Amino acid sequence: MKRVEIVEVGPRDGLQNEPTVLGTDDKVAFIGRAIAAGIRRIEVASFVNPKKVPQMADAEAVLEALPRRSDVTYIGLVLNRRGFDRAIAAGCGEIGMVVAASDTFNRRNQGTSTEESIAAWLDIAAAARAANVPAQVTISTSFGCPFEGDIPAARVVEITRQLAAGAPREIALADTIGAGVPTQVTDLVARVRAALPALPLRCHFHNTRNTGIANAYAAVEAGVRTLDASIGGIGGCPFAPAATGNIPTEDLIFMLERMGVETGLDLGALIETGRWIGDRLGHTVPGMLVKAGAFPGARSAG
Ligand code: ZN
Repeated sequence: MKRVEIVEVGPRDGLQNEPTVLGTDDKVAFIGRAIAAGIRRIEVASFVNPKKVPQMADAEAVLEALPRRSDVTYIGLVLNRRGFDRAIAAGCGEIGMVVAASDTFNRRNQGTSTEESIAAWLDIAAAARAANVPAQVTISTSFGCPFEGDIPAARVVEITRQLAAGAPREIALADTIGAGVPTQVTDLVARVRAALPALPLRCHFHNTRNTGIANAYAAVEAGVRTLDASIGGIGGCPFAPAATGNIPTEDLIFMLERMGVETGLDLGALIETGRWIGDRLGHTVPGMLVKAGAFPGARSAG
């Protein structure tokens, strides 16, 4: 039986792109509900400039309030060495870094060139190894950029090769703006695998143009065994103000479990949490299962 690991990114990627700034207590409760639903790897905060990202200004306070469990990994997202030092000081159990395949996007999002961010990753990877904390890196805009349009697959493969020199726990191919389609996922995963057969891969999809779940299916069929998702599909896309966010965790789990792919997650608890987070944010979340419920009799692992 196939097994897919879900990395819950709602508390970071989701909340970071919501107009409502949630209080620390609500964030901690959200993360607690995700853990109760079976999530074991969870992106809980980003350690970035609080003036630029007020949604994440309480990153340290969130980490401070979270229960320490040996079976749960809290991921802190960083863009540079300063953020890395904060994340380590706060006690993150894993570091996530982001490098954009599009140089224009990288400059707009993180104020440096892609090349400079690759160098920053290699420095962070070495520091993480010295601190004995696993680190991984996400290649954003791997499937398209709002400024540059299509990103050549060969460029993504070349960036993957450079990042892999830092010996990451895994590398994620991310469709930051929801521009990708399943055939592209199949193609890009195959190319990266051919170039770096031993590298563990993760995929990160947004449902901006409703292709996110289809892309997740393509990734699983291509052999990817770790996927990012956000409960309720909360979040958005900074370059499409009215757009929906990441693929909804509960919608993804419904599909995977009915396909016979094991996730270890409790679908009922995820749906319940999707409704709960919508209440806290003051709007209906984009996820479909939150509205439709599970298919009667559908298996709910847990
Ligand atoms: Zn994202």
